[in-house]
Amino acid sequence: MIQDIGEHRIDIVYNEKAALRESDCIIAFQGRNVYMRKRKKGMPSSFLTCEDILPVEYRKEAMERYVKDAVYLLSLDGKKLFLLPAKYLASAYLAEKRDIDMFREKDEEGRAVNFAMITAWHLYCWYEKTKFCGACGIRLRHGKKERAMVCPICGNVIYPRMDPAIIVGIYEEDRILLTKRSPSSGYFSLVSGYSEPGETLEETVRREVMEETGLSISHLVYYKSQPWAASQSVLAGFFARLDGDAHIHIDKSELSDARWVRREDLEGCYSTSGVSLTAEMIAYFHKHPEHFPAYLNENIDNYKIDY
Ligand SMILES: [Zn+2]
Repeated sequence: MIQDIGEHRIDIVYNEKAALRESDCIIAFQGRNVYMRKRKKGMPSSFLTCEDILPVEYRKEAMERYVKDAVYLLSLDGKKLFLLPAKYLASAYLAEKRDIDMFREKDEEGRAVNFAMITAWHLYCWYEKTKFCGACGIRLRHGKKERAMVCPICGNVIYPRMDPAIIVGIYEEDRILLTKRSPSSGYFSLVSGYSEPGETLEETVRREVMEETGLSISHLVYYKSQPWAASQSVLAGFFARLDGDAHIHIDKSELSDARWVRREDLEGCYSTSGVSLTAEMIAYFHKHPEHFPAYLNENIDNYKIDY
């Protein structure tokens, strides 16, 4: 998955004292576009630095403006990454404007950079929408000790927004339920949805499955989670067994397609780019039939989270 970056390390902890230096990495966004270092064919993604885009003769003067406008985001392998306004990178010869969906590409070498980029985009989206206090309308300031925007008048503290959501792989013997939100989606997904206030994640799973497909489930088992910056969410993946009638009553306002697919027919139904939890879960069901009979055994107390 995109967050599986091997030996690379991303440190997301806020550092208010971090001040932009010439050798630090910089990034800028414009809507769903990102400015990164121009890529040569076959090369992994990488970030630009101030040194790359500022000619030596103007650098000292320009850095004063850059430092003022830069927001510290994170560090990748100890290298700091700062957010800058798009105007600073838009005209840089070495910069390239790309769709943020570039993070979905199969780019093993550039995976850590892609994950840092999409995490940066999550923060950028939040900063863009968190400029004024929702309670009193005053312009917010950056928090001093943690990543938050703080109102200097009423003390309102706003933390980065992240919506909890679930994904569930519902199976029955050698079949798994695949869905599509949009008919134009290339690959299939699993049933998914956002958690409501007052709900446990397990309750969200049962509600979403019932709402979108009319199916009942049992033997709900947690699989893995994933930060999914593209929708500013954190996803919790579960597997669950169909309980009862397999007939799907599809909610057309949510899904364009929902169908049972046999394990032997799953090839080509999901992305193999190794980025998303959804694809990993379908692949897990596809490639590891030996892990699923366990759920069907009589002695399943170690597996089930039933309530
Ligand atoms: Zn306020």
